[in-house]
This record gives sequence, C-alpha cells and structure tokens, in this order.
Amino acid sequence: MKIHEYQGKEILRQFGVTVPRGIPCMSVEEAVKAAETLGGSVWVVKAQIHAGGRGKGGGVKVAKSVEQLRQYAEQILGMQLVTHQTGPEGQKVRRLFIEEGADIKQELYVSLVTDRVSQKVVMMGSSEGGMDIEEVAHSHPEKIHHVTICPSAGLTDAQADEMSTKIGIPAGSIADARVQLQGLYKAYWETDCSLAEINPLIVDGSGKVIALDAKFNFDANALYRQPEIVAMRDLDEEDPAEVEASKFDLAYISLDGNIGCLVNGAGLAMATMDTIKLFGGEPANFLDVGGGATAEKVTEAFKIMLKNPGLKAILVNIFGGIMRCDVIAEGVIAASKAVSLQVPLVVRMKGTNEDLGKKMLAESGLPIIAADTMEDAAKSVVAAAAGHAK
Ligand code: ADP
Ligand code: MG
Repeated sequence: MKIHEYQGKEILRQFGVTVPRGIPCMSVEEAVKAAETLGGSVWVVKAQIHAGGRGKGGGVKVAKSVEQLRQYAEQILGMQLVTHQTGPEGQKVRRLFIEEGADIKQELYVSLVTDRVSQKVVMMGSSEGGMDIEEVAHSHPEKIHHVTICPSAGLTDAQADEMSTKIGIPAGSIADARVQLQGLYKAYWETDCSLAEINPLIVDGSGKVIALDAKFNFDANALYRQPEIVAMRDLDEEDPAEVEASKFDLAYISLDGNIGCLVNGAGLAMATMDTIKLFGGEPANFLDVGGGATAEKVTEAFKIMLKNPGLKAILVNIFGGIMRCDVIAEGVIAASKAVSLQVPLVVRMKGTNEDLGKKMLAESGLPIIAADTMEDAAKSVVAAAAGHAK
C-alpha cells in the first residue's frame, strides 16, 4: 500500500525526523490560506499523487509570492500529471501540499528496503540526491552505498555516521543526520514498511538535515496491525479494478496484456501467466480466487476481469483441491450470463468434481473451449485472443 508525501512526512515527524512545515489542501483557496498560515515568503506547491518524478513533470513549483502560489495551485490542481512512474496517461492531481521553501545546500538520497537475500533491512544512500536514482545506479553504481541492519541492534550510531560520511554530509551535521537516519529506520520498522525513500534528504544553509520528500510503501500482509496506516489509504490513487477486487478478498493485479486469467492459487496463477507468455500471449491480469472461493466470489472476479475493454479472451485454469470444480463452473456460468460474455473462454479444470464441473459447462450452452493440459489451454487462449479460435 502507498501513501501521499504529506502523510509520509507526518509519520516521519512522529518518529523525530525533521521535515519542513506544510499543509495539505484540496482547493486553490485552501492553498492560499495555507501559505498565509505558514507565513514566510517562499512556498512550494506540490502535487500529491502516488508516483515519483513529480518535479520533472511540472508537479512541484516554487512560489515567491501569494499571487504566484495561487497561479501554480490553479495550474497543478486537477492537472493530469505525467511522470516516469504514472504511465503515459498520467494521474489526476486531487490534492496539493503547500510547504515552506527550504534553503537547499546539498541534495542527498537515502532509502530503506527489505532485502530478501539477507532477510534484513538495507539502508541505501548516495550523494546524488534529487535526481533519478535509477540513473545513478546505472551509470555510477559506486556512488550508491549500502548498510545491512541487524534487526536486534537497529541502525547503530556507527552505521548511521558511516553512511552520512559516505554520502557527503559535512562533519558539523553528522550528529543531526544520525537522528534523522535512525528516526527513518524506526519509522520503517514500526509501521511495517516495504520501502521508505527520502529523495532528496537535504542539508540546508544552517547545516540542518531535513527530509524534503517522502515515499513510503507498506507491506500489505501487515496492514491488519497498522490501522493508522490503513486510514491513510487514498482509493482515488489506486487501480479501480484492484480496489473492487480487494472488496471481495480477491488477489488481483492489472497487467498490460489482453488475456484474462482466472486461477486458484498464486503459484498456479504465476505458472499460468508464464505458460501464456511462453506461447506468445500477454496476460491482462493476475487473479487468484483463492482456495475457498464461493460461486459469488468467482462471479465478481469474472465481472472485474470483463470490465477491461482490451480483453480479447479468458483462460480459467482451476486445480480442484479445496476448491471444487463444480463451484467454479457455477460461478463461470453465472458470470458469463450476467455480463453476456463476448470474448472466447477457455477452461481447464482438474481435480475434485472435475467431471461434474465439465458437464455443467458443456450443458450451459456457452461457447466454451475446453482444454486438458496447461499447454493445450495456453495455446488455445493465445489463438483465441489473436482471433483464430481452435
Ligand atoms: P519528486 O521526487 O516527485 O519530483 P520532490 O518532493 O523530490 O518531488 O521535489 C522535487 C524537487 O523540488 C526536489 O528535489 C527539490 O529540489 C525541490 N523541492 C521540493 N520540496 C521543496 C521545498 N520544501 N523547498 C525547496 N525545494 C523543494
Ligand atoms: Mg523526490
């Protein structure tokens, strides 16, 4: 789960990390009022969307008067902001963050991720902040520094100071940086993050170390114990199909292809997508209906997949273990009728009540293409999506 920058900064503040003062706003009037409340003479108008690269895309502007701030707020609010992380269609800006302008002397990079290889949290840092870190990683990998954090010790003073020195924090600011880095680690650890990125972390004119941007991702499997994080969820920023699927407890991820996949079990779903790709097709989604799905759940899953206008064919691949094939058949038939199915449907079923499920499908009168093996199913659906059903 992702949150907005202003929410990330609120979390950082709670963990003792220095962030500029700022106020989130939903309208131009609120933005103007926010600038007056903050005082000072330089403000930054920042688009709040769940994607980075906003500055380059025109979503972050420095205003030197209230009049200018109003103009920028009018420009940015409601715009379709395109960044390298939004895709070409961009993301509509519905919220702004008005922040006091910082006096930037140095822009650095620091982030935390959970490293699957060491099974520990790793802090990464670089002197090259403010810009595309992927580009730095590609062209100057030696400028990215790593430290692996022991879960019982946390980020030690020595580790924090070593990182600060490597990324070029001046000697006089090392003590302050220690507070910031350790606060960031604590925030990461206690809120069950999967990523926390501060780009840029700055040193200002007075030597203070400040988090100027905040990007947080949270582990969805830990949200049950993070109600305060869940409360920050902004459904406007999420894929509508995925939001709908989560209401029915379906694991659904939208993808770019045109073959819908309805599968039970994440492993089988991955294998099904791989097989489709092996035979030249592109999956439109990942969808795991789970082990104990009901016919209603399958119907909802079907409806969600069919909302995709680019869908050309569907592959249902079921292993009936806990899940019974007749339950899937019932769901497929109900959903196909409810949405008057227009695309070819390939079904492969194996396991519990397989014969009954197949019989139900055959007798349903629906134009279903039956398949026996994974290979068979994938070849059939790829051909069907290309317009030549076998
Ligand atoms: P993004 O990473 O999405 O482009 P950032 O929050 O990192 O957004 O902002 C982009 C750039 O704008 C920063 O690298 C920094 O140079 C500048 N900036 C952001 N916030 C402020 C601020 N409060 N004061 C001064 N400059 C800022
Ligand atoms: Mg940034």
